[in-house]
Amino acid sequence: MDDETRKEAKAWLEFYQELGIEGFYRREPGTVGKPPSLEVAQPAAAPPPKQVVSPAPARAASSPAPPKPVVPPTPPAAVIRPPAPTFSLFEAAPAPRSGPETLEQIRQDLGDCRRCKLAPTRKTIVFGEGNPHAKLVFIGEGPGADEDEQGLPFVGRAGKLLNRMMQTVDLKREDVYICNIVKCRPPGNRTPEKDEVDSCSPFLYRQIEAIKPRLICCLGAPAVRTVLGIKEGITKIRGQFYDFGSTKALATVHPAYVLRNPREEKILREDFEKIRDFLKSS
Ligand code: SF4
Repeated sequence: MDDETRKEAKAWLEFYQELGIEGFYRREPGTVGKPPSLEVAQPAAAPPPKQVVSPAPARAASSPAPPKPVVPPTPPAAVIRPPAPTFSLFEAAPAPRSGPETLEQIRQDLGDCRRCKLAPTRKTIVFGEGNPHAKLVFIGEGPGADEDEQGLPFVGRAGKLLNRMMQTVDLKREDVYICNIVKCRPPGNRTPEKDEVDSCSPFLYRQIEAIKPRLICCLGAPAVRTVLGIKEGITKIRGQFYDFGSTKALATVHPAYVLRNPREEKILREDFEKIRDFLKSS
């Protein structure tokens, strides 16, 4: 600073001192216009409102998705109401008689059935077997070679696995009823076709209505599709309880699937434990 400037600055300082202003500070570059004393402290930002997390609502019974799950009076799994089945128990196959039918009467009506294209290649009609007052009805896909030979459902390797699963949860074969969605063997054990299912399933519904079980167990996707009208993959919807009229229904894998995939036996075992728990509590 040269002498002239120094003098001028001194004069200004004296002038300010006469005015009572004595404190001076040097502003940092970039702070012009923002003296610290003029900055208004901003209040701390308000914390975001707390998000209220409601407990997950129980799945609505009317939601098929996935579907889930009427917690039946009991079963650990919730009950999902599936899409309405194509047929109702009462409309699918009107019984020719008034009043409740017996299984014998339904078998008589079936006769030497030729209502679909499975008739020419079958050996025997496999109507169904078991307790006519069973609390539990198993429904499979269709008879295989052993069943076609013997006229009885689930007597081959898959049947032996089914028997073993029942034993693990203290169920006896003679206490349940076992049948299929079609009563004649599809050639080569193929999946029954729609026209075959449409012709045969009315007799199945009449059987269910005659037995009035507490629980239906659909074994495999074709049985689930026919009885519950659910088209989702069986591994997605298995182990869940559904409404079927006044009855409950459980979907699980077919024992034949477990024979092809032995590691999946635990799935079948888990679902059989649910069946046991349901029957105990209902
Ligand atoms: S599958 Fe059913 S509808 Fe077809 S011929 Fe056999 S019993 Fe009759």
